[in-house]
Amino acid sequence: MHYDGYKEQGLRQQLVEEIKSKKINDTRVIDAIGKIPRHLFMDSAFVNFAYVDKAFPIGSGQTISQPYTVAFQTELLEIQRGDKVLEIGTGSGYQTAVLLELGAKVFTIERQRELFLKTQRFLPTLGYNPQFFYGDGYLGKPTYGPFDKILITAGAPHIPEKLVQQLKPGGMMVIPLGDKLQIMTRIKKTLNMEIETEAFGDFSFVPLLKGTAND
Ligand code: SAH
Repeated sequence: MHYDGYKEQGLRQQLVEEIKSKKINDTRVIDAIGKIPRHLFMDSAFVNFAYVDKAFPIGSGQTISQPYTVAFQTELLEIQRGDKVLEIGTGSGYQTAVLLELGAKVFTIERQRELFLKTQRFLPTLGYNPQFFYGDGYLGKPTYGPFDKILITAGAPHIPEKLVQQLKPGGMMVIPLGDKLQIMTRIKKTLNMEIETEAFGDFSFVPLLKGTAND
C-alpha cells in the first residue's frame, strides 16, 4: 500500500547527508530522518520534492516543515525515551513521527479540521500512534500534562502563558517567536520554577493562529 523503493531510499540518504552537513549532530535525529518515508506525507504529485530540504504546501494553506527545521527543533528539545511531549501544529505529522522515533510519548494538537482528520487517519498506517487532538494549541492539554517537553511548529507572536504552565519543572519548550520572521527560542523551566530563555537564530514559519478552523 505504501511504496518506498530504491529511488525514495536513495533520495532520503542524500537528504540525510545534507542535514548532517548543516550541522545537525544528534545521531538519533539523523537516523529518524533516514528512516521516515517523507514522500508519503505529501500528495503523490509532489513526491519528487519530498527529499529536497525545503518546506512544502500540504493543503489548508499549511506546510510540511523543512526537514532541517524539524531536525533543529527536535535536537534542541533533547528528547529522552519516555518523555511526554506536547506538539502544537500536527500538520502532516512528519515532525510527530520524528518525535515518536526518538521514543517520546506524543500528544499533538491541530486547529485545521481537514488536516487533523487526514493525519489522524494516515499516521497509524505507518505505525505511528500519538494521541491526536483537534483544537486550539494555545490552550494546551492541561488534563494530560504536565509535559517534559513542548514543541510549537508555527510562528508564535508571544510566549503562550498557558503552555508554560503545562511544563514540568526541569522541562523545556521550543518555540519560534515573532510575527513575520521568527527567532527559534528555547524556554527552560528550572526546578525552582524560574524561566530561562535562549535564542537560536532566524526561521520562517506559518503563523500560530487562535481558535480552530473548519476548512
Ligand atoms: N509539524 C508540522 C508543521 C505544520 S505547519 C509538519 O511537520 O508537517 C504548522 C501547523 O500548525 C499547521 O498545520 C497549522 O494549521 C497549525 N496551527 C496553527 N495554529 C495552531 C493552533 N493554535 N493550534 C494548533 N495548531 C495550529
